[in-house]
Amino acid sequence: MLKVSPTLRFSFGLLTLALTVLFTADMLGLSPVSTEKRLEHRKQLSETIALQLSSAVGYQNPAVMEKILWGAVQQNDEIVFATIVRDDGQVLARIGGGVSAGSDLSQNLIRTPIYGEEQIFGRLELRFHTPAPMGVFAFLSSVSLNWVAFVLCFGVLGYWLMMRRSFRLLEPSSVVPGHVRNALDTLVEGVLILDNDERIVMANLAFERKVNLSSDELLGRKASDLGWTLPHSRLAAKELPWTEALRQGCAQEGAALGYCPDGSSEKVFVVNGAPINGEDGEGQGVLASFEDVTELEARNEEMRALLKELQISKRKLVQQNKQLHELATRDPLTECLNRRSFFEYLEAEFTGAQNSDVALCCVMVDIDHFKRVNDTHGHTVGDEVIKAVSRILKGSIREEDHAGRYGGEEFCLLLPGMDLQQARLVAERCRERIASQTDVTFDITASFGLASISSGPASPEEMVDWADKALYVSKESGRNRVTVWDECAAAQQTPLQSAESERQRVERALDKALENGEFELFYQPQVNCKGQVIGAEALLRWNKPGEGFISPAQFIAIAEESGQILPIGEWVLNEACQQLSRWKADALNPYFRRLAVNVSPLQFQHHQFVDRLHSILSTTGTNPAHLELELTENMLIDDVKGAVDKMKDLKELDISFSIDDFGTGYSSLLYLRHLPLNQLKIDQSFVRDLLTDANDAAIVNTIIAMASSLELKTIAEGVETQAEMEKLREMGCQSFQGYYLSRPVPRKEFENLLRNGHLLR
Ligand code: C2E
Ligand code: CA
Ligand code: CA
Repeated sequence: MLKVSPTLRFSFGLLTLALTVLFTADMLGLSPVSTEKRLEHRKQLSETIALQLSSAVGYQNPAVMEKILWGAVQQNDEIVFATIVRDDGQVLARIGGGVSAGSDLSQNLIRTPIYGEEQIFGRLELRFHTPAPMGVFAFLSSVSLNWVAFVLCFGVLGYWLMMRRSFRLLEPSSVVPGHVRNALDTLVEGVLILDNDERIVMANLAFERKVNLSSDELLGRKASDLGWTLPHSRLAAKELPWTEALRQGCAQEGAALGYCPDGSSEKVFVVNGAPINGEDGEGQGVLASFEDVTELEARNEEMRALLKELQISKRKLVQQNKQLHELATRDPLTECLNRRSFFEYLEAEFTGAQNSDVALCCVMVDIDHFKRVNDTHGHTVGDEVIKAVSRILKGSIREEDHAGRYGGEEFCLLLPGMDLQQARLVAERCRERIASQTDVTFDITASFGLASISSGPASPEEMVDWADKALYVSKESGRNRVTVWDECAAAQQTPLQSAESERQRVERALDKALENGEFELFYQPQVNCKGQVIGAEALLRWNKPGEGFISPAQFIAIAEESGQILPIGEWVLNEACQQLSRWKADALNPYFRRLAVNVSPLQFQHHQFVDRLHSILSTTGTNPAHLELELTENMLIDDVKGAVDKMKDLKELDISFSIDDFGTGYSSLLYLRHLPLNQLKIDQSFVRDLLTDANDAAIVNTIIAMASSLELKTIAEGVETQAEMEKLREMGCQSFQGYYLSRPVPRKEFENLLRNGHLLR
């Protein structure tokens, strides 16, 4: 393609425009030269001829005048004919005879006066040809052509020189000498040279290739109009680099620009911009270089995505590690430290405290009667209680303290830098908060044991052990209290230790007792006023190998505390029901109506108690009417409504209820009225001193009166003498149980008693 410089192109365009204007004006006959000049010329010609004629007027010879006229017509082709008309209208001479073309007489006929010596002689009339419209060639050949040509040539030349100067910067070859341009074309990088208006004055070959545009398409265009975008790159330019370079007057390095005209796939360039200054220091434009980093960016993008993924998986890993660490160190239910990690802290704190001689205290915490809570309300509620307590403990200690879940319902607090006095305050605060908590609907309390490093434990384990022993003292002395190890004195260490180990020994032995069938039921008869055996109380005996029968007084409390009373109680109910069915089948005694079974508080409060009893009754085929459950007052008043519901359920089956040890608990007419009871069992402590203590006699009297008003029967237990029985009978008691009548006896012996049927001699 022929390359024409912009200056030339521009000049050529201007020339064409000028010519077009001229031609058009000419064609339209707008050229002022063509009409005015012609008229002027004709006037001058006419006046010259009239002047010659005026000088000839003096000759008084018309022939002279005619000759002059003839000569003028001969010399001027334009004249069609010429006439001399005297002032009186007489035509003196007339030369030529052609007819004028066209009708514009005013333009073609010129009248000029001819003067005589004193007055106007006449007039000269010259008729001219009507001029043909002057075409391009006529015009070119006209006189004004020279002028136009002159103006045009010099104008264009002057303009070209001026534009050449002005447009010198637009002319690549003038901005960049040929050899430099060639050198720029060899570069791999794209190069643009822009003027101060950011118009492209030079683009090297590499740039043309990169943007897929020819230099013709590029030169003169504003560089910012090429379709730049801002890529998702860390280096992404904030402003077009050349704009910035021009604005700031200094080089701008390494800003990334995307190039994406018409939605094609984006290319990414790293663009450097440097201002170009003239010799006078004036800015003349900017040079921008373009390095194609599309592939690099794509790879970077991949790397970034990969990095992001890696970071996400790293975060996940850290999270998982944290979770694993939590799992490994925390108790999932309470988020307290688990036992193992608590010990790690304990060891570190203990060693640190020992080395730097600072205070350190440890508090053992145990939720009171937790097994009962768990067994009565279920494990979910039990868990809630544990969580509530842990929340209180954690909320009552400082950040630098540690709370560990030590066992089921046992916690341990480690209080670095705290002396016994401060630690006791913390423990007391926890105790009070637990006792007044509202997270669970029923009351809970906890016992606390406190030990300090100042007491001189040899190891962290020993310190915890001391806190544990102090806790044990809290439990033994009524629970819901704080005990400091130092205060229970070293002297107590031995008995406490032995009590603790005895308890643990019994618990372990009880576990085996059930498995090994070491339990047995003894039966103590209950008689009416006539001494007839109307019932019996089933009393548990533990026939421990090597030790003989162990009284329930020695193990029931421990079994209750450990929860072992549940399987044991179930065994008792099952055994008693089986016996009942057998005895009824054997019909040993016509008066024998029912067997009383002791039910422990934990057992009765268990949410499955009713269901379990149902299933025992049905599997043993027992008539529920023959079963009597002995409950104590204290286990009923904790939850009167729950107890009433359960009792009503069982009452519907015809099971009867007796209140054991009546008079020792919180006897209240109010609640008794609501319970579906059958009988009150006067506690043996009142019977024992009935004959000697007026108070006890009054109590027994009251109990019997109360029972009568509530339409309940009464039975007295612990009747050891005939006198006691007589007295009770007088007082209105209906049934009796005690050594006077019979000790609790093994099944076979009791069956003999039943056969005998009568216990009074
Ligand atoms: P308890 O229910 O008050 O049972 C009566 C206790 O008094 C029995 O003691 C019985 O042997 C004793 N006893 C009976 N007559 C006399 C008497 O005339 N004088 C004296 N001094 N004592 C008499 P045991 O059998 O040692 O039972 C003690 C407690 O163990 C029972 O007191 C009861 O609370 C509990 N127990 C016994 N068997 C069971 C059982 O199967 N389940 C539950 N949960 N507790 C049981
Ligand atoms: Ca009893
Ligand atoms: Ca009793």
